[in-house]
Amino acid sequence: MQSKKPMAAERAITLKQGLIRVCLAAFGLVAALTGPVSADINVTQLANQGVMITDGETRILIDALVVEPYSVYGGLPEDVRPMFDNLTGPFSAIDLVLISHRHHEHNQPAYACQFMQKSGQSRLKTSEQVIGLMRERCRDLVTTDPRVEVIDPLHASPVVFEVKGAKVTVFPLSHGTQSYARIENFGHLIEMGGVRILHIGDAAMSAEDFALAGLDSVDIDVALVPFWFFQPGPGGEVVNRFLGASRKIAVHIPPSEMDEVKAYMSESFPEVLILTKTLDKASFAPIPKTNP
Ligand SMILES: [Zn+2]
Ligand SMILES: [Zn+2]
Repeated sequence: MQSKKPMAAERAITLKQGLIRVCLAAFGLVAALTGPVSADINVTQLANQGVMITDGETRILIDALVVEPYSVYGGLPEDVRPMFDNLTGPFSAIDLVLISHRHHEHNQPAYACQFMQKSGQSRLKTSEQVIGLMRERCRDLVTTDPRVEVIDPLHASPVVFEVKGAKVTVFPLSHGTQSYARIENFGHLIEMGGVRILHIGDAAMSAEDFALAGLDSVDIDVALVPFWFFQPGPGGEVVNRFLGASRKIAVHIPPSEMDEVKAYMSESFPEVLILTKTLDKASFAPIPKTNP
């Protein structure tokens, strides 16, 4: 589906973004608009929380090197698997691979190695924990290929870089407490064509953690939010305070619970999108750039 905002709304959003950019400068989270823009920004659903995000030129995978089902979470359907193996469809010409954390419904090391070995051009930037599990499968690639890079973003110093027409900001976002406290989980803010898309991995439903990550001062257009944030409990506060995107996509939905989750969401949060099947796609109109 496509989002066409009226002119006045576009101006308001651009003004708001300008103000927010000023605030963000203090945190190093500034994402300047880059390059000429016209194509829609597409988000394509892959396995579980995996997506391919593109503006037609730059192609980014997040949590998308997942092939087999894991626990209750889905893998790639049979008709999509060859696309992964042959680097076609959503897996073709990928510029950048991002992975939120090491859990197997977000990254499968053997398949991540396979993808990176075949792709030739894709760069991978992720945590030491994710790379550590891959190292057991493809030591040479991980230790010698300059396309593979460990990043270590901190709250005070997020990792910010550009890939072709996209600006990427990576920052830590807690997975939780106790046994989850040691899991490095990254949030990813992707800006393409003026549209800011947020992927939070398995972030804990903690307003405190979202505040620590600086998300109270980040303007988001599209938020990919695990579906449990919308259920009664602590997720509501996080969504209201930090994920005020005009478009939200509920993600991380086990296939066996899809019907139930969709029924609940259409009743309680009808404005939230759900990409039901692998290769389902949401499109967002670029936000025109206005020079300061
Ligand atoms: Zn997960
Ligand atoms: Zn996890």
